[in-house]
Amino acid sequence: MRDALGLHRDSIIVDGHCDTLLQICGTGPAQGYYGGSGRRNFFEKSESGHIDLPRLKEGGVTCQVMALYIEPQYKPARAARRTLELLDAFYGLVDESDDFKLATRASDITTAKAKGEVSALLSIEGGEAVEGSLSLLRSFYRLGVRAMGLTWNQRNDIADGVGERSSRSGLTDFGISLVKEMERLGMLVDVSHLSESSFWALDAVAERPYIASHSNCRQLASHPRNLTDRQIEALARKGGVIGVVFAPGFVDDKKENVSLSRLCDHIDHIKKVAGIDHVGLGSDFDGFTVTPGQPQVLKDVSELPRLTEELLARGYTEEEVRKVLGENWLRVYREVLG
Ligand SMILES: [Zn+2]
Repeated sequence: MRDALGLHRDSIIVDGHCDTLLQICGTGPAQGYYGGSGRRNFFEKSESGHIDLPRLKEGGVTCQVMALYIEPQYKPARAARRTLELLDAFYGLVDESDDFKLATRASDITTAKAKGEVSALLSIEGGEAVEGSLSLLRSFYRLGVRAMGLTWNQRNDIADGVGERSSRSGLTDFGISLVKEMERLGMLVDVSHLSESSFWALDAVAERPYIASHSNCRQLASHPRNLTDRQIEALARKGGVIGVVFAPGFVDDKKENVSLSRLCDHIDHIKKVAGIDHVGLGSDFDGFTVTPGQPQVLKDVSELPRLTEELLARGYTEEEVRKVLGENWLRVYREVLG
């Protein structure tokens, strides 16, 4: 068996979702990076949370997708403003560092790998950010955003989120125009928080690959954010990728069963249902907390090499491991972002 750490260090590693920017930017009104209100310093290794630049390097991450997540108190009227504050926080980090770079296309990620840098791709989590305006969507694209989750858990003017439990909603007319404009621009549509009925409406209109940045398999854990086998097959037919999420509630219905091995069962399942080309990572690091002593997938991003070990131990080939670690995300980025 190939040496796991050697393979890990050599691979392109992409994590499809984290909420770290919120930890940097802080919450509350009008708190940007330059205001110094953040709770954690991104450039110092911390014992708390899951991600900072030193730990991304330890974990071997080549590209970290960073969510611009709009908290409920900013919806709907101040969603664009909040998104701009988070963008300011992100650009503050890029300005301050020589080896942390914005990625807007696949080649930025391969360049980051070649130079030993860490790159980050920006993704809006919750379409409220564009405040019903395709002009705002285009402006966010120009500011470097390359993906957007159409909803968080609530209903908005695009579609219904998964929190609308009795929803039979599809996409609104605005939602359909938005998806078409995202595809025209070269932005990834993220279905991770969509209600099931809105998911099928999106699948019917999508002409490009779409993604589920942080979702697992409903067959293995009943969380409503996890995807059914039919959804996994449909997403794969369009050429998309599902990022497996490390948050305990998505990994197993029973807290005590959560482990790295159980997470890898989800990777196995997606491989079985859709094939090895449609599964990647979408940790949701810094988007959840576990109580001390509670079983977890990994302590933080620095432990990612253990995932490579586990996949090799399960008989995954070197090529399959590389696909899961990042090559599948890279393929979709190449196809959609350019
Ligand atoms: Zn989320």
